Amino acid sequence: MAKKPQDKKTIGRRQFMTSLGALGAVATGSKASKASPSVNAGWANGDPAYRGQAGKRWAMLIDLRKCVGCQACTAACKIENNIPDGRFRTWVPDVELGVFPDTRRAFLPRLCNHCNRPSCIEVCPAGATWQREDGAVVIDYDVCWGCGSCVDACPYDARFINPVTQTADKCTFCAQRIDQGLLPACVETCTGGARQFGDMNDPDSPVSVALRTEPVQVLKPDTGNEPRVFYIGLTHALQNNLPGSPTLWSEGREAVGLDEDSEWRIATGEEADHV
Ligand code: SF4
Ligand code: SF4
Repeated sequence: MAKKPQDKKTIGRRQFMTSLGALGAVATGSKASKASPSVNAGWANGDPAYRGQAGKRWAMLIDLRKCVGCQACTAACKIENNIPDGRFRTWVPDVELGVFPDTRRAFLPRLCNHCNRPSCIEVCPAGATWQREDGAVVIDYDVCWGCGSCVDACPYDARFINPVTQTADKCTFCAQRIDQGLLPACVETCTGGARQFGDMNDPDSPVSVALRTEPVQVLKPDTGNEPRVFYIGLTHALQNNLPGSPTLWSEGREAVGLDEDSEWRIATGEEADHV
């Protein structure tokens, strides 16, 4: 019989309690951010899903000149990763820039930056989140307590507590896909061709080529996290003032009186005449 999420969590906590000695090593270790998660059986066993692909350094490049704000990436991610209503691993806030009449609309696709120096890892008291050898920052949902420390420690609002699993959650670069040679779902689906994904250690990968030939920026460069999601066309106005909370068309929802938990309705019949 399939295990319920609670069963998995109970087992995860029990495994954690039997590994408190190892936890001490993680919590006090001088290199906690890149340390192997000692309470994590998958890492200890050398499971490729936990270790990642040695020799690679995955990164994403988002060309804001090409993003049309269609939210195909947002939808693809939710479906691929079974993300509950109202929560997002990637999202695309839309913002107005400038002052009337000199204004324009901009879109800023957001996700976990799979930082080179991730501030989310060393705060985890359970050793449930770590960085794979290929740079992807991932979470062991069986080990996570759902304490939320990593959610608070991420300066990019990339993490959330999943209301179904009661664990931390975020983008994994679609580890389940890239480990099979596929692109992350958001990249595969991007209608504007704005998202590219590749190995920074491969000089011919699309990300490496763009890094050599285009001016690129990262969000909040002063955090010291060294994001590995790069942007082309990121205006100064957005770089350090990340708009809105993770949601769909946040400005638009507020404008029509919908809060985060409200459902969009499709107007039909008589109602549609008034839309
Ligand atoms: Fe961690 Fe946030 Fe960086 Fe992602 S963006 S690796 S969650 S600090
Ligand atoms: Fe922008 Fe591509 Fe996402 Fe559409 S799918 S919102 S074009 S990044």
